[in-house]
Amino acid sequence: MERNYSSTPELKACDTVVDYGTLGRQVVVHAKMAEGYVQAESTDPLLVNINSRMMGAFIDETRQHIKELEPYQSELLDEYCSNALPKTLKDQKPRNVSWTDWLGRLSSDEKHVEFLKWHVNYIEHQQVDPEVQGEIYRGKQLYKSQVADAIKSGWLHEDAHQAIDKVDDVPVYIGDVFDTLMQERTAYYWGGRLSKIVIAGQIDPGLKQWNEGNVINNISWVLKHELNHAVLGNLGDRWLNEAVTEHIAQALSYDGKPEVIDPSERGKRLEIGRFYTEERELLAAVMQNGQENEVPAQLATLAYSAGQSSPCASYPDFHYAVDKLWSDHEVFGGKDSIVNAVSARAWLLERAYLWQGLSRRNAEVNSVNQTLDDFKNSPQDIAKLFGKYLGEFTLV
Ligand SMILES: [Zn+2]
Repeated sequence: MERNYSSTPELKACDTVVDYGTLGRQVVVHAKMAEGYVQAESTDPLLVNINSRMMGAFIDETRQHIKELEPYQSELLDEYCSNALPKTLKDQKPRNVSWTDWLGRLSSDEKHVEFLKWHVNYIEHQQVDPEVQGEIYRGKQLYKSQVADAIKSGWLHEDAHQAIDKVDDVPVYIGDVFDTLMQERTAYYWGGRLSKIVIAGQIDPGLKQWNEGNVINNISWVLKHELNHAVLGNLGDRWLNEAVTEHIAQALSYDGKPEVIDPSERGKRLEIGRFYTEERELLAAVMQNGQENEVPAQLATLAYSAGQSSPCASYPDFHYAVDKLWSDHEVFGGKDSIVNAVSARAWLLERAYLWQGLSRRNAEVNSVNQTLDDFKNSPQDIAKLFGKYLGEFTLV
């Protein structure tokens, strides 16, 4: 099919304040580039043809992505479109057709691009909102002072002063539904050279603060956790890293019992969000052996927050203390790294659940629950993995 984009509606310029790493924006940027070619070279029919094809390819790419959405992702797209789209765009879709079908297959290219334009503007709007920027700024300042207090109290490492210095430079973006809620996450941290924190924007603009899903609430609930990832530490194994990351976020937030890891002992009243409860339960079990015997939570938080040059950076104290704790155990006794064996068990189970077709977060939760159950009831299944540690597998 020949495509001609000379009449494509003008795409609003994407400001540098928004992040281009998410599906909606990426496609708009591509489409915008192609459109630029179309307009710039419109006197040369051959170039118009080539550039039109490019634009068509970009649009095919988003359509393909939308066509491949899982059922729960399609539901989110429906929720998003029916709540947030302006009436003029909403009314273009026949009532008996889903948004996935409409945007993935049935809409014209022009309508498809119109949706993407609106989608980018909607996120951009939230990104530059003074209230949103204010919440991010305040959250960062609060985080810095709370980390400083925790260093003074002795449950975060002295090296965390370096982390405080980095906080202001961490970019925080509002993310789109494709990249956050559809991936079963309210936020994520992206490491490496272009490091950034991405927090879910609102898919229902009607939600006021104190409603779940409100963008200000999203920021206040998850910013500390993501800043921990960004500046404070990393313990490698996914379950362990998330458990300690969230424990520290909770302990910083609510005057927060840094010495109590088990979320059920912390009490619901103390917590907002209840994130990574399964991972924290597993960590609590690994750090406890009977009532009177346990590894102090501080060893985990110190190991997490120690800088790379510090002797605790590879957390030998923490591993050593856990192994020592279980040294009399009939199955675990005298073995090397229980933490590594638990990680290997959780990792293998997670792979198996993913293989069965579970979603990412369901696979994580099920594998951690199963590992906790094994740890308590069939430790021999975990002990089989001593000495066969599979390496570090980190998803942040
Ligand atoms: Zn995390």
